[in-house]
Amino acid sequence: MRILLQFPQGLKSKALEESAKFEKDGHEIFLSASPCWGACDLALDEAKKLKADKLVHYGHAQFGERKVKGAGRLEIEYRLYPITVDLAVMHNALAQLAPYKRLALVTTVSHIHQLDEMKKILREGDKAHPHEVLTAKGAMAILEGQVLGCDSSAADKLASKVDAIIYFGGGEFHPLGIKSNKPIFAVNPYARSAAQINDLIEKKRKKESGMLIAASQAKRIGILASTKPGQFNLRAAENAKKKLLAVGVQQVSILVGNEFDFDSIKDFNSFDAYITAACPRLIDDAERLDKPILNLAQLPKLLKLMQDLGKNRF
Ligand code: SF4
Repeated sequence: MRILLQFPQGLKSKALEESAKFEKDGHEIFLSASPCWGACDLALDEAKKLKADKLVHYGHAQFGERKVKGAGRLEIEYRLYPITVDLAVMHNALAQLAPYKRLALVTTVSHIHQLDEMKKILREGDKAHPHEVLTAKGAMAILEGQVLGCDSSAADKLASKVDAIIYFGGGEFHPLGIKSNKPIFAVNPYARSAAQINDLIEKKRKKESGMLIAASQAKRIGILASTKPGQFNLRAAENAKKKLLAVGVQQVSILVGNEFDFDSIKDFNSFDAYITAACPRLIDDAERLDKPILNLAQLPKLLKLMQDLGKNRF
């Protein structure tokens, strides 16, 4: 079989080891060298150019339940890469969590295999303050308790039923995407820390509101439309363009790319603001773009603001 192996950033160092296993069984192996950040980003075009029979995508679960559009006869296999971490940090977090009886628990795909152990610690670790722990499935994050940077619904849909939300995992990218206003705690096994992060989420929201107001003054807007299979949403980009022109934006262009390099985009030197119809978390990198950037979920608010301001907005 001709097989293309695709590893996300952070796992590419495992490629040769995995490749050797397939080669031992007589398969012809290719390695995708393109950057890969999420399950949305299957290397379909590369696999097709190679006339591969199969694409093996490591480190992520399937992105949503639907069959991948455009895969044709290409077989797609998702291979999780579980990373087992020391859960002692969860024990250490119990004192902070004592005031909250019912908890929603979420984590990333890398630690989802330890979800039951995490639940047990929260339920039984503090005999004086045992917790009830709820988990749910998201929309695009299909595993119980899993969140993605663009899909925190496994946490958000439980918000009305719990007293606090616990995110377990490294970094701030995933927990900062949670939309609830309930107390949110990030328990980080790498930094061995546990902290409430509502102030960081509030800071992010304020930054986004600032960009929304700045974007309402824009005369020329660029809409980013990515060709990555899970991000490709040309219809949404075209609809956004129509609506922006209808409220008086003078120029709206759809910018197409696979991976968006902000230095390359800045070279257009033409747009006052951007809207991403691709990964909604591109807005986190606004500083590198030097211009306001919004995602499609913010479009209705932008249109309303533009309508309310009318001609006074310039
Ligand atoms: S769309 Fe963005 S946040 Fe969602 S999986 Fe892809 S890279 Fe991650």
